[in-house]
Formats: sequence, C-alpha cells, structure tokens
Amino acid sequence: MAPLWKCPKCGHRFATRNLWHSCVRLPLAVHFSGKPKRTRGLFDAWRAFVRRAGPFHVYAQKTRIVFMTRARFAGAMIRRDWIDAALWLKRRAEHPLLTRVEYIPPGNWAYRFRLTDRSQLDRALLDLVRESYAVGKQEHGMAARAQDGRRRFRAREEAFGRARGTEERGRRPRGEVAESYVI
Ligand SMILES: [Zn+2]
Repeated sequence: MAPLWKCPKCGHRFATRNLWHSCVRLPLAVHFSGKPKRTRGLFDAWRAFVRRAGPFHVYAQKTRIVFMTRARFAGAMIRRDWIDAALWLKRRAEHPLLTRVEYIPPGNWAYRFRLTDRSQLDRALLDLVRESYAVGKQEHGMAARAQDGRRRFRAREEAFGRARGTEERGRRPRGEVAESYVI
C-alpha cells in the first residue's frame, strides 16, 4: 500500500495526496472546555476502548474528534454530559447502542451512538470496533465489496432505506484538521 501523504502545514495524514481539508490545528482540550470532567473521562474511556484494536491517530477538528489509521474509522462529538461516539463499518451491523446509522455509498455505514456511561462499552461493541479498525487500515474494503456482489448490495441499500445518491458523496465535508498524535 502507498504511504500516507502528510500535509506539511497541519501534519494530518491522508491516503490521497492533497486531499482537501481546512487545515486547522486545534488542541483536543477545546472540545472539553466548560464541560464536566466526567465528559472527558467518558471520551478517554472510549479512546482507550478503541485502542484495544490497535494504535491510531487522534485529530481534533472543529466539531468532532476523529480516530484515524489510513482512513478515519471512528471518533466522537463531545456534548456536555455525554459523547456521541462514531464508528464506520462496511456492512449493516446490529448492536443495541447503534440506533443512528447513515449509509454512505458505496458500502459504508456510519454509526453514531450516545455514550453516557463507560459500562456501555461491552464485548460485542469491541468486536465491531475491531472491524471498524480494519476498515480504517483499508484491509477490509475491497474484499467486502467483492464478497457482496452488486445485487445483494442493492438489496441491502433498499432495505436500509437511507441510500443517498452517489453524487452527494463529493459534497460531504472532509472536516477540519488539527492536533494529531498517536496513542
Ligand atoms: Zn493540512
């Protein structure tokens, strides 16, 4: 696999050279300013939980924090009393926490869930996090797509009922880039 391109300005790494991003550096602490300490504790628990899958970069963007290896695979939006944790998968998955799902063609499912207590981070979720981590390392995508087959893929898309036009993909915000470190 090609090495990641590192933006000389913000240090954010990308699988594609010169990928558009707004190139902002923000300290992680900005997301926790004025919020209860417990909220930072929740984020740290989520980050440590994901770390069980392997090392990754943490980037603080303007509205969210993203976890990335070759690609973004998980992250969080920091609310006052909870965090909206996120993970990306290449398939429709089930877990009681995963109530908010967005389908992003082709073959990407973005899951968000409200994390209010670290006890929610259970074994079944860890399995999904490990899967999402493999997606981030881009070890998963091609195999999964080949396995799916076009017909089965379309059926899923319809069943899920949230399919969006592929033209919308190009307009998805890439997000702002900021502080980066590997944990
Ligand atoms: Zn940059």
